[in-house]
Amino acid sequence: MQKVTVLGSGVLGSQIAFQSAFHGKDVVVRDLDDAILVQLPARWEYLAAQYRRDLPDASEEKLAAAVARIRVTSDLADAVGDADLVIEAVPEVLDVKRDTWAAVGGVAPERTIFATNSSTLLPSAIADATGRPERFLALHFANTIWRQNTAEVMGHPGTDPACFDAVATFADEIGMVVIPVLKEQPGYVLNSLLVPFLTAASTLFVRGVADVPTIDLTWRKATGAPLGPFQIYDVIGMQTPYQLSRTSPDPEQREFAAILKRDYIDQGKLGVASGQGFYDY
Ligand code: NAD
Repeated sequence: MQKVTVLGSGVLGSQIAFQSAFHGKDVVVRDLDDAILVQLPARWEYLAAQYRRDLPDASEEKLAAAVARIRVTSDLADAVGDADLVIEAVPEVLDVKRDTWAAVGGVAPERTIFATNSSTLLPSAIADATGRPERFLALHFANTIWRQNTAEVMGHPGTDPACFDAVATFADEIGMVVIPVLKEQPGYVLNSLLVPFLTAASTLFVRGVADVPTIDLTWRKATGAPLGPFQIYDVIGMQTPYQLSRTSPDPEQREFAAILKRDYIDQGKLGVASGQGFYDY
């Protein structure tokens, strides 16, 4: 699959587009209007700087060639009209996703494979909106995809296995470590492991069973893992865990959210990116 269209040019859409172009794919990026699209050259410059810093093979020639392989448009029919693969990274709202896919299904060629980057919505909740559910599945990237380069590939029960395999091959071609997810699972593999682990750590902390350095030390020493759970919170940043725990039905999680807000977010301690979180960096 050489021709890829990315719907949505936000945090993840721009990364997916740049990573695909960096690995030689012809990329079209579609967003809602030109006011959004004019900001993209600055975004490519930002991403090029990250690649230069993090990837030894990110030469100036390769970075310039990547930018040259990206075309942008606000016209959906133009964006998907010749696509082998459409990757959708529009906001995480079911109706927005379904409306987007219904529109794509009306104009994309028959050969096109459809993939959503949704973090929390199951492909089976969206598939029928496309009009060709057998060609629809999830391709889930992680933020900073050039570095945290996993790609979880997950179909729904009606996904054609040939489409699954084609998307896995595409992910490999753009430099990802492919994680085949063999059954539909909220949270894929990574978040199915990570979220309960982090929740257990925050519960120990809220209950006063042990303090933060002790919980982390226990995990590192006893398992040989490089990071404890609160070091992982610092890497993720406080905002996402705050939003998840704030809306939890579990009162201990809501108490954790209140602590995150009062002692960390309101103090500007947002994690590694801000230089301070549970630890100083
Ligand atoms: P974002 O808000 O940064 O970007 C969304 C973009 O979609 C915006 O540019 C918006 O203008 C555009 N948009 C809105 N409606 C559109 C439409 N109908 N057609 C085309 N573009 C449209 O969001 P994001 O963080 O990039 O997340 C996008 C998707 O990626 C979500 O499903 C999210 O769950 C998933 N995701 C995000 C992360 C992350 O860390 N941010 C990680 C993995 C997966």
